[in-house]
Amino acid sequence: MTSGCVFNIQRFSTDDGAGIRTCVFLKGCPLRCAWCHNAEGLSFSPEIACYERNCIGCGACVLACEQNALSIENGRVAIDRTKCISCGKCAQVCPTETLLKIGKNMTVDEVMHTVRRDRIFYGDNGGMTITGGEPLAQAKFALSLAKAAKKEGISVAVETSGHGKTEDLLALAPFCDLFLFDCKASSNDHKKLTGVSDKVIVKNLNALGETGASVILRCPMIEGANINDGFVQKIIKLSMATAAIKKIQLMPYHATGLDKSAILGKTQQRRYVTPSEESLLRLVKEIELKSGKHCFF
Ligand code: SF4
Ligand code: SF4
Repeated sequence: MTSGCVFNIQRFSTDDGAGIRTCVFLKGCPLRCAWCHNAEGLSFSPEIACYERNCIGCGACVLACEQNALSIENGRVAIDRTKCISCGKCAQVCPTETLLKIGKNMTVDEVMHTVRRDRIFYGDNGGMTITGGEPLAQAKFALSLAKAAKKEGISVAVETSGHGKTEDLLALAPFCDLFLFDCKASSNDHKKLTGVSDKVIVKNLNALGETGASVILRCPMIEGANINDGFVQKIIKLSMATAAIKKIQLMPYHATGLDKSAILGKTQQRRYVTPSEESLLRLVKEIELKSGKHCFF
C-alpha cells in the first residue's frame, strides 16, 4: 500500500476548493517562498514543534529524551535541535501538548478513513483537497490518494505550486476535478522570492491546460514583495493564454507563518504587509478587464 508523510488532515475546510473539503496536507516542499505561511510543510520528514508558552516545566520530556536534546531553562523547556532526531518520545509524555510531533507516515487507506467520515458533509461539490507542502513532491502518494477518492465518487482538488515533473502533474489530471495552481511572482522575481525559477511551472501550467483540466489560478499578494506590474501582467497573460484557467483568486498576505516558523525553530521570516482592500479591488478590476476572466479575493 502506498504511503506518504502527512502533517495535517483538516476537516470542514471551506477555503481550498468548492464546498466543504477535507484537506490532506503532504509534508515537504522544494520551494522557499519568502512569505511561506505553512512552515510545517517545508521539511520532508517529521519535526518537533514547541509551543513554549504552554510549558509548565515538569521535566517529563527531559527524562524521555534519549538524545539529551532537552533541558529546562527558566522554568520552560529548551530544545537543542542539533541533537533532536524527531522521534516524538517527548511529545508522547508531555501533559500540556507543548511538544508535538508534526508529520507522520500514513497509508492511503488511513487517510481515506478520515476522508470517508466527512463524506456526509460534501454535498454536491465538496470533497478532498490534496495540498501541502507540495503534492507533486510526493507524486506517487498524491496520485494514489486521488485515485482512491475518485473510485469512491469523492471529488478531488489538488493545490500545487506547479513545480514538479510534468508527467506527475499530467498523471493526476484524470483524477482531479480542480487544480488550485499557484502563480507566485513575476518571472524576473520568481527565483529571488521562491527559490526556484518559474520556467517549469509555466510549462506545467500550459501542459495541464491542454488536458482540459479545470484550474483556479491562485496568486498570493504580498505588499513589499511580489506586487508589481510584472506580476500583474504575468497573471493577465497566463489567464488569457490558458483556457483551463476558469478563475483567478488573489490571496492577501497574512502573518500566521511567522508563529509557525518560530515553533519549529526556523529562522523568522520578515513580516510583510497585507495589501489594502482598496488596492486589491484595483487589481481585481485591472485583471478582470484585461484577461476577461473572473477575479476575486
Ligand atoms: S523528538 Fe526525540 S530526540 Fe527530539 S527532543 Fe523529543 S525525545 Fe528528544
Ligand atoms: S513535558 Fe511538556 S510541560 Fe513538561 S517540561 Fe516538557 S514540554 Fe514542558
